[in-house]
Parts: sequence; structure tokens; C-alpha cells
Amino acid sequence: MYDVLIVGCGIVGAAAAYELSRYRLEVGVLEANNDVAGGATKANNAILHAGYDSTPGTREAALTREGFRLSREQCAALDVERRELPALVVAFDEPQMRKVEQLVRQGRLNDVPGIRQLPAEEILRREPNISPRVVGGLIAPEAAIVNPWEYCIALAETAVRNGVHAHLSTEVLAIEKRRDAFRVSTSRGDFEARYIVNAAGNYSDRVHAMIGGTGFRQVYNAGQYFVFDKSQCGLVNSLIFSCSVKPGFKGTTVFPSVHGNLLAGPDFYRVAGPEELGTAAGRMEELKRAVLDMVPAVDFREIIHEFCGIRPSTDKDDFIVEESPCCPKFVNLAGMKSPGLTAAPAIAKKGVEILAGCGLKLTAKNRFVDTRRKVKFRELDNAGRRGLVRENPLHGRVICRCETITEGEIVESVHRPIVPRSIDAVKRRCNTGMGRCQGGFCGPRVHAILARELGVSPLDIPLDREGSLVLTGRTKEAGA
Ligand SMILES: Cc1cc2nc3c(=O)[nH]c(=O)nc-3n(C[C@H](O)[C@H](O)[C@H](O)COP(=O)(O)OP(=O)(O)OC[C@H]3O[C@@H](n4cnc5c(N)ncnc54)[C@H](O)[C@@H]3O)c2cc1C
Repeated sequence: MYDVLIVGCGIVGAAAAYELSRYRLEVGVLEANNDVAGGATKANNAILHAGYDSTPGTREAALTREGFRLSREQCAALDVERRELPALVVAFDEPQMRKVEQLVRQGRLNDVPGIRQLPAEEILRREPNISPRVVGGLIAPEAAIVNPWEYCIALAETAVRNGVHAHLSTEVLAIEKRRDAFRVSTSRGDFEARYIVNAAGNYSDRVHAMIGGTGFRQVYNAGQYFVFDKSQCGLVNSLIFSCSVKPGFKGTTVFPSVHGNLLAGPDFYRVAGPEELGTAAGRMEELKRAVLDMVPAVDFREIIHEFCGIRPSTDKDDFIVEESPCCPKFVNLAGMKSPGLTAAPAIAKKGVEILAGCGLKLTAKNRFVDTRRKVKFRELDNAGRRGLVRENPLHGRVICRCETITEGEIVESVHRPIVPRSIDAVKRRCNTGMGRCQGGFCGPRVHAILARELGVSPLDIPLDREGSLVLTGRTKEAGA
């Protein structure tokens, strides 16, 4: 019998697990995928937003500012890559300038520090690669970029260190409310819990419907991205947003990532379901034009990757952070459209407050682990690297040449509290395959190391989700 079961381990579920792990409670997380951070959390802008976009007075507005502040503390304590840099919204005509003025007014109402309008000359002085057609814009000095999957993994790992049980590859199929507990049927058997937290992202309405819950419905707003080689990163110094007048869309962005790449995207279009994650040539062409309109110097021969994400939006305008009106002790943390990543740590704190309000007793643990450190060979000077190799000779073997990732780092990632079981799960922990060759060189080596460390056949290691096979069978048997 768990006190609390969390359904879904994206950034919201992981943050909720982390917060709950402060207390003397039995907490479990049920995640359908074979890894955490496999949903919207891995496919987004990775921007910690300043908060000028949110309608003043909404939950979203309050939780975004609070989340931004908490992320600063959490990322420092948990060794997550996060870098603060200003956001600029740039306008190219008068209607867009009117929108900029509205965003500045809204930002002030939302207490966004230092937000102000900028004349075109100052924008071009700060960002010489922006199109000279720019007529003005705004600056919000307090925004940031983060490694979103690392943030989620860090919160989930630390929750596990503090006693939370993470059940991966465990899809919730049905939930039955009994007299004083829930019975949760999953692809890996049944669980029981006194409280449920629904953090199922794009599947939240389906999970809510399992207890007969109604009142909100997912709408699937997709967005595509280009990832450029590091050669392009120096083109911009800030997060450059186009000025969008489309409701719910913050604009196409050209911005550096924490990994040192340039990213451009997203666009915004409706799809029929949560699995429609393909990119489409025609739409990518439109996105390319939008990017070049803003920053003409971007070299599209330097693309190394493309991806698509689906915002976990609902038919409600605000985040849904409440006990279900249809079922006591069932708390929805749903509808996490952008900026859900930014708001997640604040959403989690609010979720715990709601659980306490519906009767969950919170007694703080005497000992709560709130720090985490990782070996990052590439960030060390030569003396540091030599010391590391002396300690563990596996660091003397660089597996990913683009990103300078050693066998020691890969092996270390396999022995952390949430075990990676796919090639991409190792990528999310160590950055292998993130470089220009996109794993063309290191992929087979990571595959072999992972199989060796897990003690399984390489045939059982997928690229990412279960079933995404890399090897389908042997073509040559020994002695044949
Ligand atoms: C294009 C795009 C751009 C964005 N840009 C930003 C940005 O710059 N800044 C920002 O703050 N936010 C941004 N966001 C929003 C942000 O990505 C989301 O708010 C956040 O990732 C939502 O996290 P989540 O945990 O709610 O959902 P998810 O990350 O999707 O996690 C939900 C999890 O639940 C699991 N699950 C679902 N059903 C079940 C089940 N039945 N049983 C067990 N597990 C289940 C899923 O497998 C998944 O792992 C963007 C989103 C998109 C798509």
C-alpha cells in the first residue's frame, strides 16, 4: 500500500516525487516508458521562461515566476546544466509592435524583473545577426536555458535516493476507487495507494477518465525544431523570439542550447493524437523561412537533427492543479502547456499542499538528500582528467569523440538510481551521440557497453522506447 502513487514521470511527476520524498511517506512513480523524461519533457525549447506571456492572475503566471526561482536553486544543488540569458521578442511591423507593448504591460503585472521595450538600434547592437528589418522589441533580462531531461532525471534520481520507488515500463491501464484506497492496474501488475497524483502529460485526460473524471480534454499542439551544429551557436547571444499573435504560441525562437548548439523552432499546429511526433518536409520548409526572416545568417547546411514535441495542453486556458472535482484524493497536475517546464518545481510544491489539504499527513524526514554530483570529463582541465583516469582507467577511453564522453561516464550512468535501458537513455544521461555525427561513431560502442553492464544480449537493447530495435537478430553464428 503506497501513500501516494504518481502516474507519469516527466518533469512534473519527477518534481512531485522529489517534493514528496522530503516526508515520511511511501511514494511510488508509475511510468509507461522504459525511461523517465520520455514525453513532452524531452522535446521542447528547454527555456525557463521569464513569465511575460502568461495572463496576469492565472495559476500559470504565479507558478511560472515561482518555478523560475526554484529552478535556480534546484539546478545548482542537483548539478543540472542551466544558464541565464535574456529573452528578446523582436517585431518587424506595427501590429507586432502593439503586441510587444501588450507583453511588456503583462510582464510588469506578472512581476517580470527588468522587462522593457527596446528600440531597433539597441536590438541590433546586442544581436547584430538579427534582420535589419527589425522595428523594435522587448527584453526580459531574467530567462534561462536548461537541460530538460537532465533536470527530470536529477529530480527523479534524487527522489529515489530519498526512498521513492520508480516503476518504469509500467503503464497504468485502469484505476478503481475502493472505500479508502485506489487499486491501480498496470502492465506490470496491480498497486494500491491512498492518494493518486495524475502527472501523465498528454495522457492526463485519459488517466483522469479512469476514475470517471471529466471536465477537461487534451488538445494536441505540436511544434517542430531544427538543431544546428555548434558552428552556429555564436550567431545569437540571447533567446530571440518572433512576435507571435497566435493564441497559445510564444513565437518561433532562435537560441543557444546548454549543449552549445543552436536551436530554432518551434512552429505551432494541431495534430490528432499524442503520438503524432513526426516532422513534415513542407512544414519544416515554412519553419525555415520563419527562422531566416528573423536571423538570415543561420546556415541550414549545418542542421544535425530535427524533432517534434506535443504540448500537453487542454481545452482549459490555465494549468490544472487541483484535487479532481470528480474524485477525492485524486490530484490532477495536468494541462502543462508551455511554460510547464519552468513552472514544474512550483507545480510540485502546490501539488503537495493540495495533498495535505485533502488529508495526507506530512512529517519531514530527518535526513533528506538534496544534492547530486556527476563526473563531466570534458569540463576538466588536463590535470583533472589525469586524476580521473588514475582513479578509474575507463575514463582513459573516449567513446563519444564529438562530445568527449568517456567509457567511465557511460558505466557510471548505468549504475545510478534510475538505470538507463536504451542507447538514447544513455544519451540523455551522458550526452553521447549529441554531437555532429549524431551517434554514427559511438552508437555501436554505447550499445555494446550498455549490454555488457546490464548483463543482457545486445538484441535486447533498443534505440529508445521498447520495440525501437537496433538489432533484430544474428546473421552469422559462431562456426557457421
Ligand atoms: C514544442 C514545445 C515547446 C515547449 N517549450 C517550453 C519551454 O521552452 N519552456 C517551458 O517551460 N515549457 C515548454 N514546453 C512545455 C513543457 O515541455 C511541458 O510543460 C512539460 O514537459 C510537461 O511535463 P509533464 O511531466 O506534464 O509531461 P510529460 O513530460 O509528457 O510526462 C508525462 C509522462 O506520463 C507518462 N504517462 C502517460 N500516460 C501514462 C500511463 N497511463 N501510465 C504511466 N505513465 C504514463 C508518459 O509516458 C510521460 O513520461 C514546451 C512543450 C512543447 C511540446
